[in-house]
Amino acid sequence: MKDTAKHQGRRNQLVSLLQEKGITDKNVLEAIRKIPRHLFLNSSFEEYAYQDTAFQITAGQTISQPYTVAFQSQLLEIKKDHKILEIGTGSGYQTAVLCMMGAKVFSIERQNELFKETSALLPKLGIRPKHLTFGDGYKGLPGFAPFDSIIVTAGAPFIPQPLMAQLKIGGRLVIPLGETVQIMTLLIRINETQFERHELGECKFVPLLEDKN
Ligand code: SAH
Repeated sequence: MKDTAKHQGRRNQLVSLLQEKGITDKNVLEAIRKIPRHLFLNSSFEEYAYQDTAFQITAGQTISQPYTVAFQSQLLEIKKDHKILEIGTGSGYQTAVLCMMGAKVFSIERQNELFKETSALLPKLGIRPKHLTFGDGYKGLPGFAPFDSIIVTAGAPFIPQPLMAQLKIGGRLVIPLGETVQIMTLLIRINETQFERHELGECKFVPLLEDKN
């Protein structure tokens, strides 16, 4: 599949829609303007790739809705060369947006089939995360910690303690919390022991499952 002027035009429209919905971070909007989302989807969805909706991908998982990707990315307040840990690589679209924003991205996926598929796809698109891992995101990546920010892209029943421990002081953890419906939650690490907590409305993700598959 190719990236054409028609796709670019649709991306420009999507970016305008995200602005109308309240996304203001210019780096987030520019990354979404550049990343060819249609190449992260099964080709039968190509026509719909720039609608603001989630779609099914391999292994019963989903590629997040563009608004959700933009909203979570904006909450991270990424600066160039920030070290970001992503839990739930999935299609790799969110990973690609973070890389395009200049972050050093470390990402974990628990579905082996999806891990292999996405690890093969990203370099073909010229996207180079620092590290992709097949593993259990509940544990984080202690060997690469601490991180400037952590983003969880699946619905978590609770905040995994290892992720809080792997966050820098001043760092931001964005996590959808809850079972069937989640509350987008932002934790900012104030010091060794204290975190400031913000709840930012309802959202819906596939579940964060323990262990790997
Ligand atoms: N960021 C992805 C979202 C994919 S959906 C995208 O934009 O495409 C969430 C992903 O989290 C799924 O791929 C699922 O397999 C993965 N996941 C669920 N539990 C996990 C865990 N404990 N560790 C790592 N990945 C997990």
